[in-house]
Amino acid sequence: MTAKTASLQMRIGYGWDSHEFKAGVPLKIGGVDIEYPKGLGGHSDGDVLLHAITDALLGAVAAPDIGTLFSPFDPQWKGADSAVFLEEALRRARAAGYEISNVDSTLILAQPKIGPHAARIRENLCGLLGLAPEQIGIKAKTPEGMGTDNAAIAHAAVLLQKLRPSRQPGIPKKKTR
Ligand SMILES: [Zn+2]
Repeated sequence: MTAKTASLQMRIGYGWDSHEFKAGVPLKIGGVDIEYPKGLGGHSDGDVLLHAITDALLGAVAAPDIGTLFSPFDPQWKGADSAVFLEEALRRARAAGYEISNVDSTLILAQPKIGPHAARIRENLCGLLGLAPEQIGIKAKTPEGMGTDNAAIAHAAVLLQKLRPSRQPGIPKKKTR
């Protein structure tokens, strides 16, 4: 990181993802299993929300995107738990010297309704990201007039803030005289 970027107190990140619904696949959104006849297709578990948040985190620290780090052509990631991708993105953000201030997200899908699952999704994201519930926004909309009824779309924005020196591992607190 250059001297110029090292002084950035805050960094914003944005991610977007979409997956098509497929019969006979389990549905996982935000790391939570949702009872539904169809799931989201894709090389990994197709978790559209975790992918969008992962890309937002990676983008915030100008890291390579999710498809570059975890190629859909790499057999290693076939059926992978997308929490692994999110953990790597979080590790990179922390290594760059940042912690998450908050995350906001919007899911766009015709079915199933997200409302009944939102609390479980938020709780799971809290665990994965080490955040409190009030740091995570989860919104859901139906795709009016978009013709994407057989897909799930997710948008995510994250705000990172510089880790305070006392909270950086391995760096002793500066003594004041
Ligand atoms: Zn994806």
